[in-house]
Amino acid sequence: MPVQVVCPYCGNRIITVTSFVPGALTWLLCITLFLFGCVLGCCFLPFCIRSLMDVKHSCPVCQRELFYYRHL
Ligand SMILES: [Zn+2]
Repeated sequence: MPVQVVCPYCGNRIITVTSFVPGALTWLLCITLFLFGCVLGCCFLPFCIRSLMDVKHSCPVCQRELFYYRHL
């Protein structure tokens, strides 16, 4: 979820821009599925599930990364 913060880089009061990036949990599930024999693309399933992805918050004004929301 986007949050309202004061950007520490440019000092503007902004609503963060969120983007989904594969995190440690995503890779872990990918490897686990791969080991269980889900070779045909199925191991990439975690990359399609947003709730398993880490969320990157960045500033819309200066485009800098503010913080990550990580699952692990
Ligand atoms: Zn900024």
